[in-house]
Amino acid sequence: MTRIGSRRALFVGVVPGTGERSLEIMAHEFQHAVEVLSSSASNEAEIDASFARIGIPVGGRLTETAAAGVVEQAVSRELSARRQPHRLARRP
Ligand SMILES: [Zn+2]
Repeated sequence: MTRIGSRRALFVGVVPGTGERSLEIMAHEFQHAVEVLSSSASNEAEIDASFARIGIPVGGRLTETAAAGVVEQAVSRELSARRQPHRLARRP
């Protein structure tokens, strides 16, 4: 996070992966980006404080948010649904 004039800029680094799990992880992490940009945080300490308010400690300095889990699961369900063969409605 940095300030450019009166605006905030959040840089998100993503290590490219393969497979559907990487899409689920990216969705999860981009939800965190939305959470940061939805707050007024403009530096690391403020981001940490924001996550301390909205998240749940998961060990060490890590905090997790329910919304990131929800988004990750939604993407997982969508990807799973795409793998299912399309079933045509039975006709009498
Ligand atoms: Zn997370």
